[in-house]
Amino acid sequence: MQIPGHIDPITTGTVPLRGGNRVDLVGLTREGIRGALEEAGLDAKAAKLRGKQIWHWIYHRGVTEFDAMTDIAKTMRPWLTERFIVGRPTVVTAQVSNDGTRKWLLAAADGQEYEMVFIPDADRGTLCVSSQVGCTLNCRFCHTGTMRLVRNLSAGEIVGQVLLARDALGEWPKGTMASAPDADDEDDDAGHYTADGRMLTNIVMMGMGEPLYNFDEVKGALKIVMDGDGLALSKRRITLSTSGVVPMMARAGEEIGVNLAVSLHAVNKEVRDEIVPLNRKYGIEELLAACAAYPGANNARRITFEYVMLKDKNDSDADARELVRLLKQYKLPAKVNLIPFNPWPGAPYECSSPERVRAFSNRIFEAGISAPIRTPRGRDIMAACGQLKSAATKPTRAELDRIAEEKQAALG
Ligand code: SAH
Ligand code: SF4
Repeated sequence: MQIPGHIDPITTGTVPLRGGNRVDLVGLTREGIRGALEEAGLDAKAAKLRGKQIWHWIYHRGVTEFDAMTDIAKTMRPWLTERFIVGRPTVVTAQVSNDGTRKWLLAAADGQEYEMVFIPDADRGTLCVSSQVGCTLNCRFCHTGTMRLVRNLSAGEIVGQVLLARDALGEWPKGTMASAPDADDEDDDAGHYTADGRMLTNIVMMGMGEPLYNFDEVKGALKIVMDGDGLALSKRRITLSTSGVVPMMARAGEEIGVNLAVSLHAVNKEVRDEIVPLNRKYGIEELLAACAAYPGANNARRITFEYVMLKDKNDSDADARELVRLLKQYKLPAKVNLIPFNPWPGAPYECSSPERVRAFSNRIFEAGISAPIRTPRGRDIMAACGQLKSAATKPTRAELDRIAEEKQAALG
C-alpha cells in the first residue's frame, strides 16, 4: 500500500483486521456499519435501525460490548458478538507528567506502536492524536522523523485514540438510555445521562506522522469525531497540522474543514530546506499561496503558523521581521505559535534562550500579529511537541543520517 498524496516517499504496511475474523466496527462510516450488518445477513430495514443504534452506543456512549446495548433485542446481541467487535488500541504504557500531561503508548493489532498525548488546561483539554506510525518525512528537529518504520493508521485506529482517551478520562455519559427521564419528570435523575463538563474539548492532529499523507483515513476519522450523534466535536475545536503538503491543503479545507496549522519554522529557502526537507519539494512561496487560498480561513478563523525556536538557526530579529513581511505579503489571517525546541537524545539543535524567544515574539506582536510562546508540556515524559517516538531503538548519529538520506531520496 502506498501512502496517498502527491508524493509517496515510502511504502507502508497493510492494516490488519482486528478481533480475529470479526469485523471491527470502529472507524466505519454509518453506511459502512449498515453495510456490514447487511452483509452478515440482516435485511435492509433491520440493518438501518440496528446500525443507527450501534453507532449511538459506540460514539455517544462509549460502549464496547454488544451485551450492554440495552435497546437491541437480547437474542440479537450474541449474534452481533460472534461477528463484530468494538475495538480499542492496546495500551502498552500510560504515563503522567508532573504537569498533568498524560501520554499513552498504544499498540495496533499487528503490534505497531504509536503515541497519543492529553494536555489538560484550566479552560480546555487537548488530545494530540497520531496519524501514522512514524513519519515518512524527516524534519531535522523532530524525534518522530528519526523513525524508519512507517505505516498509515486506519480511520479506526485514529478515532480509536479519541475513544480510548474518553475511556481513560472516564467521561462517557453515565446512565442508560432506556431509563433516561422524561423531560418533564424533574424528580427522576436516576438514569439520566449527560454530555456536559467534559475534559476532552479539543483535538489536534499533531502527534506522530504527517496527516496529509494519510488523507483518506484522517478525513474518515475526523468526520466521525465531528458527527453530531456521537463524539460531536465542533470543527472549530479540531486543528490539523501539516509540514506543508501543498497539493492536499485545498482538499483538507474543503473536505474536512477543520482549523489549519502549518509548520513553517523558517523564512528562507536555505534554512527551511535544511530543517523541513519537504521544502525542497514545496517551497515557502507555494506553501504561503496555498495558505492564502485555504477554504474557510478568515480573521475569525486564523491559520496558525508553528515556528520552532532553534538557537542561532531561525531565531534572529531579522527572521522575525521577514516572517511578518511574508505573512503580510500573502495577506494571511495568521497567528504565530512559537514552540521552544523540545530536546531529544541525539538532537542536532538547541533551544533558543528564553530572552531570545521573548524578543522574537515581541517583534511579531509589534507588527500586530499574535505570537504567543507555547509552554512546553510533558517534557519529563517525552510527551512534548516533536518528542514522540514509539520505536525503542536508539540509533546512532550515523544511522540517523542514513535514515534521513533514505527518506530524502524517497522524496525525489
Ligand atoms: N507532521 C505534522 C504534525 C505533527 S508535529 C507537522 O509537522 O506539522 C506537531 C508540531 O511540533 C509541528 O509543528 C512540528 O514541527 C513540531 N515539532 C517537531 N519536533 C519538535 C521539537 N523537537 N520541538 C518543538 N516542536 C517540534
Ligand atoms: Fe513528520 Fe511533522 Fe515530525 Fe516533520 S515535524 S518529521 S512532518 S511528524
